[in-house]
Amino acid sequence: MSALFDGIILGAGHNALVLQAYLSRCGLKTLSVDRALIPGGGLSTIDNPRLPGFRHNPHSFFHRALTAMPWYRDLELERHGVRYVEPKLNVAMILRDGRALEWWTDLDRTVATCAEFSERDAEALRRFAEEFKPIVQKILLPEAQSPPLEPASRRSLLERSALGRRLLEISALSPLEFVTRHFENDAVRAGLLFFNGLREVDLRLKGFGHSIPALLASQSMAQMAVGGSTALARGLVADITLHGGELRCGIELRRIVVHNGRAAGIELTTGEQIHASAFIASGLNPRQTFLDLLPAEAVPASLRGAAEQFQYNLLAPLFGLHLALDEPPRYAAAARHPELDEAFMVLIGLERFNQFHEIVAAHERGEIPSPVAWGACPTLFDSSQAPVGKHTAFLWEKLPYALRGDSANWVGEKDAHGARLLEFWSKMAPNLGGGIIRDQFVLSPADTETTLPNMSRGDLLVGSFANNQVGYNRPFAGAGCYRTAVPGLYLCGGSTHPGGNITGLCGFNAARVIAADLGKAIWWNPPDAEQAPASL
Ligand SMILES: Cc1cc2nc3c(=O)[nH]c(=O)nc-3n(C[C@H](O)[C@H](O)[C@H](O)COP(=O)(O)OP(=O)(O)OC[C@H]3O[C@@H](n4cnc5c(N)ncnc54)[C@H](O)[C@@H]3O)c2cc1C
Repeated sequence: MSALFDGIILGAGHNALVLQAYLSRCGLKTLSVDRALIPGGGLSTIDNPRLPGFRHNPHSFFHRALTAMPWYRDLELERHGVRYVEPKLNVAMILRDGRALEWWTDLDRTVATCAEFSERDAEALRRFAEEFKPIVQKILLPEAQSPPLEPASRRSLLERSALGRRLLEISALSPLEFVTRHFENDAVRAGLLFFNGLREVDLRLKGFGHSIPALLASQSMAQMAVGGSTALARGLVADITLHGGELRCGIELRRIVVHNGRAAGIELTTGEQIHASAFIASGLNPRQTFLDLLPAEAVPASLRGAAEQFQYNLLAPLFGLHLALDEPPRYAAAARHPELDEAFMVLIGLERFNQFHEIVAAHERGEIPSPVAWGACPTLFDSSQAPVGKHTAFLWEKLPYALRGDSANWVGEKDAHGARLLEFWSKMAPNLGGGIIRDQFVLSPADTETTLPNMSRGDLLVGSFANNQVGYNRPFAGAGCYRTAVPGLYLCGGSTHPGGNITGLCGFNAARVIAADLGKAIWWNPPDAEQAPASL
């Protein structure tokens, strides 16, 4: 069997595509393979099979600061037709009494809405947003956009500057501690935890106290791809094919072929083998990569043990309710706050800080908590996602994967739960009860795992940040810098630093490591996590 490719990439999720695009531009001959029929993984937009012209985004939709990502620029994605919008009223938390806590792209407006709840909190919000701006720019962004530093050297680098020491001090807290220490109003505390924390990290985890001020200080906020999330995948594929990369979708992998101890190719369930002369990069999760696809004798016992111990998030799985509509949802609170008709991410059901504890406890019991849900009406900002004058909308809720102890329970439960969620939504947006719904469907946490098996247990972040599964040790010690103990095998998906979500940074960082290992010139200009804090 002769080598057809320099490298093969397993899975064609966005991280894998970013990696492939960079390596194709290095002149390497690459192939990415995926079990799905369309590349992109979590970048998916589907046509409604019952109502042509209505398009839905079943996985990712809110792409935070996407256009500020280095690869968005390097890969010239706008030349490939990719367009993003960043609505000004970026997030609105609507309370039952008609008040709204609003997060605007303009900090002054955010501070003003916060002041309606608490003057003191509004001041704290502005103070942290301003204080953390240089910490984000000079430390946190270069760190996310570089292979991770070894923890002891990172700490000693940070201890050399005032900004670094401040980051270490705030990081030592959990997000919950950060919020209770620095903010007083119940709704503001809850809103901050949601806006900045709930979707990212376990709020109880020490070591993540910086995540809320860092997000307050970020220059860019939630954005959406015009044409739907799949448009970003299309742009990446266009760049890959332009530079000679190839993709094969709709395949089933049987194993990673190991030759003389080195990852040397793949075998499909059809028996076909495809060889790679230089590398295999896996965008799949550690269990799939090290336990399901590699022969046991090729993987050191310690690595197998670590893959078995790899943990998934309890609180990440989502339940989605998707609607095709004659008109957008109209929130009753817009009577007092007309700007809500233009809100991008809308959050309902969250009123009190203590709800977080109730949500965690319900997840631990495998039960459905009282509704806290968020979503959007994409067609308010991009009319191409529905027929003329029509709309789509969706709402997500964090619900347990193992419903009453077993994910199979979702089959009998999901439609009934969707109906309850819609009833709740209609209380906040009464026109949803007025015959404007043309079609609806739901997706449970179990459906996530079926569609994207790398998101084991419905964990859309592909691995929790607990159990020391962060930075240098993500997914675990010994495989935390994209290289693995199996020669020729690399990791590049959300289970690696800096983690899940649509950031593309796992693939971006893996590209640098693989290109360097193969002696290829780094044609782009990546930041240097070591240099950035050292120069402070
Ligand atoms: C309901 C939902 C909503 C979300 N919303 C957001 C959001 O708004 N914003 C955000 O930033 N993130 C969101 N996410 C998370 C985001 O989609 C993921 O974190 C991200 O897609 C991970 O990217 P990735 O490249 O690592 O892998 P993925 O995008 O998961 O891609 C992995 C690829 O591997 C393929 N694959 C899996 N197993 C195999 C196999 N055995 N053989 C071959 N191919 C295989 C899959 O088909 C897939 O194409 C959401 C996820 C879900 C489920």
